[in-house]
Amino acid sequence: MSFSTNIINTNFQKPDAHGSITFPIYRNTAFEFATSEEIEAAFRGEIPAHTYARISNPTVEHFEQKIQAASGAESVIALATGMAAISHTFMTIAYAGCNIVSSPRLFGNTFSFFKSTLGAFGVEVRFVDTNNLEEIAAAIDENTCGFFAELITNPHMEIADFPKISKILKAKNIPMIVDTTLIPWCAFNAKKAGIDIEVVSTTKYISGGATSLGGVIVDYGTFDWTKNQRLAAMPEPKGVSRFTHKIRSEVMRNLGATMCPDTAYMQSLGMEMLQVRYERMSRTAYELAEYFSKHPKVVNIGYTQLESSPYKKLSDELFTGNPGAMFTLSLVSKKECYTFMDTLKVVRRATNLFDNKTLAIHPESTIYCSFTPEMKKTAGIDDTLIRFSVGLENFEDLKNDIAQALETL
Ligand SMILES: *Cc1c(COP(=O)(O)O)cnc(C)c1O
Repeated sequence: MSFSTNIINTNFQKPDAHGSITFPIYRNTAFEFATSEEIEAAFRGEIPAHTYARISNPTVEHFEQKIQAASGAESVIALATGMAAISHTFMTIAYAGCNIVSSPRLFGNTFSFFKSTLGAFGVEVRFVDTNNLEEIAAAIDENTCGFFAELITNPHMEIADFPKISKILKAKNIPMIVDTTLIPWCAFNAKKAGIDIEVVSTTKYISGGATSLGGVIVDYGTFDWTKNQRLAAMPEPKGVSRFTHKIRSEVMRNLGATMCPDTAYMQSLGMEMLQVRYERMSRTAYELAEYFSKHPKVVNIGYTQLESSPYKKLSDELFTGNPGAMFTLSLVSKKECYTFMDTLKVVRRATNLFDNKTLAIHPESTIYCSFTPEMKKTAGIDDTLIRFSVGLENFEDLKNDIAQALETL
């Protein structure tokens, strides 16, 4: 079945007692059992049952099944935020003395998580230029626990050659972990690109209009975790990978960043409308990027489908349809960026991505404001760039709004 049909018709694991056509919100904490033997079996994981809502919840489980249907993954774990998905992944595979080989072009908190949070526990992050395959290969050693990058870097709009990087990583037994928040499953096949683990902030495309925070870890079951020093000694679990089993049975219970059932309900509805929203938003983003790339006051437009993008070929190869609802617009100075932004009337000044509303932000002065000039240089952040996240408004209204703001410069 095709993408939306498959997600809309994701089966309930058990039929609903009242025949509800939508999976209900189970907003309870505890689940009771008829006998002590049964509750013991549930705690041991010998029967598929929910015991306590920090560990699992039927509404959250249903949401995970929708992601599984969308991605074709072996297993999916939903968590409270995108940052929880990233932190749980590395809290599971990293160890003191290990290193992560990563692109330096990272979401601000991911950068800070690697450098400050994990850094304090003796984990080293080795930043590499992901356009340079030799540099990636040279950075890997026997203590590398994973390779990490974002699918399209934000706000630089760069794409690494994931299929080629995958070949290097496979030869060296290193898992490829990619933050794919910027392109959802209806337009990108992560497994085909060689990705072993996807981390996604479902706050963005999935939530369905910025209703809630959430994150998922998507495991394609493609990596042999006996090659990871921390997971090598654990017994082989049934049906899931060592990685997913360790998160479910230990890491998420201990860290406690469980997805809330109300969120799972909203984001399940978000999943059902995902393809329709994505296609509309990314089409409008492409049209705006194309239109304003010729505007005399615009220095540069960053969008990977434009002929001017050095990543156009990869973008066409990896993504079906338009490559997402985010584009960047560069002007001559920070002052011009502020004047332009303050004159926008339809577009809102806010952070976040893939809301139904179109948003604009000046990343250097906001998302990266706590970075030192040196860190900004490493992360590739400059102050003449504005990031747009295109929503569901009509193209003409957005075009006219951006055009009138450019006229004031
Ligand atoms: C927003 C975002 C995150 C963090 O997600 P939260 O849900 O806000 O924790 C991580 N990576 C990327 C690419 C993002 O856009």
